[in-house]
Amino acid sequence: MQKQKCISCGNQFTLTDKEIDFFNNKNLNLPKRCEACREKRNEIEKRSRKNLFVRLFEKIVTSENNLTKAQNTFQFSFKNNGELKEHFIKHGRECNCKTPKKYLKTANKIIKSKKSLKRKEAEDGDIVYFNEKTGGIVFVSPKGYIRSFYLSDIDYFKRQ
Ligand SMILES: [Zn+2]
Repeated sequence: MQKQKCISCGNQFTLTDKEIDFFNNKNLNLPKRCEACREKRNEIEKRSRKNLFVRLFEKIVTSENNLTKAQNTFQFSFKNNGELKEHFIKHGRECNCKTPKKYLKTANKIIKSKKSLKRKEAEDGDIVYFNEKTGGIVFVSPKGYIRSFYLSDIDYFKRQ
């Protein structure tokens, strides 16, 4: 057990041996903030990520090119790791991606490329991105998650 002083609110908090082991095993630094302050911080980060995404999404849809640095480095992701893995197993090979990481990276490239064609799917409001050169098609949900990425053709894209 270890007593720490929260760097945000100044209150003392204790880390149990179990918690200390947890952070050490993951090679992470021990928390500098009490649990309440950590939660508050996560909430703020989540919200700012969401705002960043919403503005980025608008810019991408309208083909505006003046992305901020934060927007440029923003990585779109699948809803969770399971979804990423599932789609990677199904489509990774055809997309010429050997790892889930590469698969995600390539999808992000298509989303952000100025050359990609874009359209809004009528049915559920997904934004669909299509790279004419490679045939890569990426679906992004209105909440900002990548739904899928695979290879297709221009006729298929136009039917979405
Ligand atoms: Zn605190």
